[in-house]
Amino acid sequence: MFIGHRLQFALATTVQARSETVADNVNSRWNGQFSCYDLVAKTVLRPRSVVRVGDIAIGGDEFIVMAGPCAVESERQVLDTGMSVAMAGARILRGGAYKPRSSPYSFQGMGVEGLKILSKAREVTGLAIITEVMSETDVELVAEYADIMQVGARSMENFSLLERLGTCGRPVLLKRGMTATLEDLLRSAQFIVSSGNPDVILCERGIRTFETATRNTFDVAAVPVLKTVSHLPVIVDPSHAVGVRALVPVLARAAVVVGADGLLVEVHPRPDKAFSDGEQSLTFDQFHSMMRDLDPYLGLRQQADRSFAAAGGFD
Ligand code: PEP
Ligand code: MN
Repeated sequence: MFIGHRLQFALATTVQARSETVADNVNSRWNGQFSCYDLVAKTVLRPRSVVRVGDIAIGGDEFIVMAGPCAVESERQVLDTGMSVAMAGARILRGGAYKPRSSPYSFQGMGVEGLKILSKAREVTGLAIITEVMSETDVELVAEYADIMQVGARSMENFSLLERLGTCGRPVLLKRGMTATLEDLLRSAQFIVSSGNPDVILCERGIRTFETATRNTFDVAAVPVLKTVSHLPVIVDPSHAVGVRALVPVLARAAVVVGADGLLVEVHPRPDKAFSDGEQSLTFDQFHSMMRDLDPYLGLRQQADRSFAAAGGFD
C-alpha cells in the first residue's frame, strides 16, 4: 500500500515535471496543440537540438544546403552534380534511388545500383549523402549507404517505417505530408524519437491547397511555428514547394529569412532530360547563382531566432 502510494506519487511528479517543463514554457496559444509531443517540443532544458553528420551540424549556426538530382539516373549525372554543388557550397548531396512516384508507369528509381552510385559520389566529392527510404524492409540496406535517411511526403504517416527508423542508427529527414498539419508532422517525428532515434530534421516542402499556379503551396509560417514549438532543426525544400525552376531561388531566400536551418534543392546537369522533376530542377549555373544570392541574407537568420523567442521560444 505504502509502496503503491510512493510509486503513484513518483509517477505523478514525473508526469507533472514533464508537463511543467513543456506547459509552462511553450507559448500557451500553441501549447494545447503541441505539448503532447513532448520529446520534440522545445523546453527550457532543450531549446534546440543539433543533428550531426560527420563535421556537418544541422540546426547550428551554419546554414546547411543539401542539393542534387531528384533521382539517381547514372554515375556521370551524380558525380558531375555532386562536384558542382560542392563547389557552390552545398554540404550534402541528395538523390533518390527509390522514388515514390504517383504513377506505377513512371521511373521508380535505380534501387541498390543507385545507392552504390551515391556512395561513390561521397568518396569523390566528400559530400554527405541523403537519400529516400520508402519501406521498412529497405531501412537496413539504405542505412548502409546513406548518411541521412529521407522520409518522403507520401511516407510521413507510414508508422511502421517511422518506428523502424528509430533504430536505424542514422539521422532522419522527415518531410511534411502534402495534407499534413504541423501537428501531424510533429506526431510523426515523435514516433521516430520515441522509437529511439533523437536525430530528426523536419522539412517543409509545400502543402496541397486549392492553388494550381504552383505545384504546392509553400507554408512559409511552418518554419517559425516549428522553430518556436520544437527543438528540432527545420529545413525547407523550395523545389517541391513551388515546382517551377524560376521561383526556387526566391523561395530559398524566404526560407533563410524566416529562420530555416537549411535547404533541400533539386539540381540536374540537364533538367530538360531529367527522369523526374526536371521542371523544378536548377541547372548548375542557376544553383551557383542562387547560392551567391543567398549570401547577404544569411545574417538575418539570427533575427528570425529572436522572433521565435518573442513568439514563445526560449533562445
Ligand atoms: C523528393 O525529394 O524527390 C520527393 C519525392 O519529395 P516529396 O516526398 O517531398 O514529394
Ligand atoms: Mn523530386
